[in-house]
Amino acid sequence: MTKRDYYDILGVQRNAGADEIKKAYRKLAIKYHPDKNPGDKAAEEQFKEAAEAYEVLSNQEKRQRYDQFGHAGNAGGAGYGGGGMNMEDIFSQFGDIFGGGSPFESFFGGGQSSRGGRRVSRGSNLRIKVKLTLEEISKGVEKKIKVNKQVACKTCNGSGAKDGSSFHTCNTCGGSGSVRRVTNTILGQMQTTSTCPTCNGEGTQITNKCAVCHGDGIVRGEETISINIPAGVSEGMQLSMSGKGNAAPRGGIAGDLIILIEEIPHEYLKREGNNIIYDLHISFVDAALGSSVEIPTIDGKAKIKIEAGTQGGKILRLKGKGVPEVNSYHHGDQLVYVNIWTPKALSHEERDLLEKLQSSPNFKPQPGKNEKSFFDRMKEYFE
Ligand SMILES: [Zn+2]
Ligand SMILES: [Zn+2]
Repeated sequence: MTKRDYYDILGVQRNAGADEIKKAYRKLAIKYHPDKNPGDKAAEEQFKEAAEAYEVLSNQEKRQRYDQFGHAGNAGGAGYGGGGMNMEDIFSQFGDIFGGGSPFESFFGGGQSSRGGRRVSRGSNLRIKVKLTLEEISKGVEKKIKVNKQVACKTCNGSGAKDGSSFHTCNTCGGSGSVRRVTNTILGQMQTTSTCPTCNGEGTQITNKCAVCHGDGIVRGEETISINIPAGVSEGMQLSMSGKGNAAPRGGIAGDLIILIEEIPHEYLKREGNNIIYDLHISFVDAALGSSVEIPTIDGKAKIKIEAGTQGGKILRLKGKGVPEVNSYHHGDQLVYVNIWTPKALSHEERDLLEKLQSSPNFKPQPGKNEKSFFDRMKEYFE
């Protein structure tokens, strides 16, 4: 039996990186997956060939031996070499290749996972976006959201059968959920096992299908789901609720609901990590004489005192008035940037008054050692 070159099988260069190899294999695994090509012998062979190539090239040691000695370098080891990998081994690899969730659920409207040999169908994951205001984010919130999804068919209770008893053992696989095939090769007989194409691995077939769901056990429907969102989440974060995704065909395990967080920008407040930033504008008269101003915060309003002689660019800190960290007692602060507002239009009287002040020595800037530079202030607050 002549074996093809592993790099050729995956269609990558000999110097391909680990990620490139993984990506190439992922593509082939999806293309030739037996569930997608039931009964297609050629596809199955290509599926196994790709798995074997990946098994070697994804392992640094095996890849080195292969580069040096070719196929002989890894001959005789378990799981690869002479007879190729078996299906169990291939499927068990998928966890780390596809990062937990199998990609096949999205192709077949329900992936499958093994349970004691027979396969149990699994509903696909469902993604929704939830938009939150800064106030909701700072306190945490319970959102009730109407979700459009696959739900269990009420008529047949999700079984897919017209009446509860109309199931029979699958004729093709005799109930085992898998079929064995023996093929003759130059090296002798080879036995392969794959999912039964008739029952999709479930071991049973429906005699009388439910008229509402046509035997699927699922229909399109709506569910109002209440989602507890913890305080401190941020844009792009994902929460996951297990079992709240699409229902699985014929009473399998429902998929997960993935909640993607989006932030609605606040009119006045800006979020910077766990801190809240507010741009305050005061007149130079208030800055010179001192005053008290009301500013927005995420819990409503707060009064702050402006000391007489406050310089523009000062940063006031309201401790603990920021956003909490998720699952922690730590709160950010609210930082108030003081900007001095300069009038743009002046009446005659105002102009006269200001002209009198213009030449006064107290109105000449005299920055002293106590005046910090913008750079120093930034360092102080963000380091
Ligand atoms: Zn079957
Ligand atoms: Zn039904």
